[in-house]
Amino acid sequence: MKIGIEWVILFEPNKFYYRRFVMKVKVSVDKDLCTACALCYDEVPEVYEDSGDGIAQVKAEVGGDGAIIEGDLAQRVLEVTEECPSGALVTEVIEE
Ligand code: SF4
Repeated sequence: MKIGIEWVILFEPNKFYYRRFVMKVKVSVDKDLCTACALCYDEVPEVYEDSGDGIAQVKAEVGGDGAIIEGDLAQRVLEVTEECPSGALVTEVIEE
């Protein structure tokens, strides 16, 4: 069942923030920016992998650069994109 947009407000002491849930994203990696920190392929190994020298790449199994990722996995991709220290993860929300 397609739910659409869901907003969840999370409360912590002295602050609150919201998390936006997305349904579908398009993923790629800017290898020139990647610093090989390993965060993305440690956190979301279903989508990202070490290309051999520590630089991240989108797995061929999911379609390589430009692959479309859906559902819960899309949410995890979005989260790790925000955490990437170099801004090398390029993630386009194409459906909310
Ligand atoms: S999180 Fe960013 S900098 Fe770290 S390996 Fe992945 S793309 Fe590279």
